[in-house]
Amino acid sequence: MVLRPAAFKPRFTRGAALADPAHIARPVNVEDIQSEVLRCAEDGERLRVAGGGTAANALWRTDENLLTLDHFVGIESADLERGRVWVRAGTRLGALAESLAVNNLALPMDGWPAGATIGGAVSVGAHGSGPTLCNLSAHVTAVGLITADGVLRRVTADNDPALFGAARLSLGALGVVSHVELECDLARPMRVRRFKSALEDTLARLPELRTHAAQLSFEWFPGTGVTRIRTAMATEASPRSETNSAIGREWLMRNAGHWMLAHASDRAPRFAHRAQRLALQLLPESERIEAAPAPAAQALLRQAELLEYQLAVDDLGDALQQLEHLLKALNLRGYLALEVGFIAADDIWLSPAFGRDSAFVRLKRFRGIEQDSIAKTFADVMERHDARPHWGSPHGQDASALAGLYPRWQDFIDLRARLDPRGVFLNDYLSRLLGVRQP
Ligand SMILES: Cc1cc2nc3c(=O)[nH]c(=O)nc-3n(C[C@H](O)[C@H](O)[C@H](O)COP(=O)(O)OP(=O)(O)OC[C@H]3O[C@@H](n4cnc5c(N)ncnc54)[C@H](O)[C@@H]3O)c2cc1C
Repeated sequence: MVLRPAAFKPRFTRGAALADPAHIARPVNVEDIQSEVLRCAEDGERLRVAGGGTAANALWRTDENLLTLDHFVGIESADLERGRVWVRAGTRLGALAESLAVNNLALPMDGWPAGATIGGAVSVGAHGSGPTLCNLSAHVTAVGLITADGVLRRVTADNDPALFGAARLSLGALGVVSHVELECDLARPMRVRRFKSALEDTLARLPELRTHAAQLSFEWFPGTGVTRIRTAMATEASPRSETNSAIGREWLMRNAGHWMLAHASDRAPRFAHRAQRLALQLLPESERIEAAPAPAAQALLRQAELLEYQLAVDDLGDALQQLEHLLKALNLRGYLALEVGFIAADDIWLSPAFGRDSAFVRLKRFRGIEQDSIAKTFADVMERHDARPHWGSPHGQDASALAGLYPRWQDFIDLRARLDPRGVFLNDYLSRLLGVRQP
């Protein structure tokens, strides 16, 4: 069975700028992928895979061979009783959610970008936000992996625990992920509330909110002392949307408001503080009941770049206070919008939530605005708290720093060297990131 989701449009958010491959392959079946891998391996060339191209760094950049799975999409088989689907890696998350909904299933995360593919999202550890919600990779129960020798392996916790620990989140460094088996949630209505609260009250209430909310995150504008909290809880009530005014204001802020206020603040930094307060006024408080988690809008008219780190949840309050203090002490003014959320611990070797319940802190950066000092201060504070960067986000951590953050780092490096000794799946960025010399 191949359930073909709605037609996709190839769209590399940053692809045109980042990738100029000499050759692009668009396989339609597993054999095509295998033969492309073998061709590159035999010719001593390198190959990167692109999913939706939404990662905001050079992970899939290549001037050699690019493999895109645009024509390798859909659910191949489903075990509806166990809620498991065997999905082709090129399937977009938005389209996958639509196919799942037909069977009363839902993706086990909220807030994901609809244009990302399941293969790409799993490869970088994409996540939603909730105290007991793991990232998407932790919901993978089997991986179809085509390694540099052209062999397709179906990797599970039973047949190869070590490879399973690595292949569920592997940055495309171990081979081509052709399929994933995903354990899905039952689609169930959720009551989604957004409300404002002082930062200190939000931090004080976190233990209680983390006990009750299935999904939980908050926006914070440093210096204003105010946050906007988003909670979602399961409900029996029938789906209903929020008011038109709330929908309109949310859309406006997301697609244009933040961007305009950020640009205005860039021109006149002394108004930045007022711009943040205005944003807080414009952002609505609202309540709706949604049938199941819905994808984030695919295209933002004024796209922001997200800098994200994940740190131990107990360090969150201290990190936010330090950040606020430093920004003030250094007199760094600008339009600052942060999002804070939660991810449960897992045991995946390169997962930023490996071994610890985590909070993520995400700084929005708006195109056309240089906020290098602010971004650097943000990164410094996060790194001082041993935070691990989101793999799809730009960051300055190198292999030696990352090795100290990931207890299974060396195991991953050794496994990669065994599976791909000639570095078919490396590019310059990945070689630097992993600290691997290219043969
Ligand atoms: C608007 C927007 C909102 C976002 N929101 C969130 C969010 O809420 N939570 C979150 O965690 N992240 C978020 N992100 C980041 C996002 O999760 C990642 O960029 C995305 O999951 C990567 O998926 P992709 O298909 O675009 O992969 P790509 O960017 O194409 O690739 C990412 C990496 O995976 C590799 N790869 C891709 N497919 C395969 C494959 N089949 N086999 C082997 N390797 C592969 C690539 O080589 C590359 O190394 C957001 C990004 C944007 C632009």
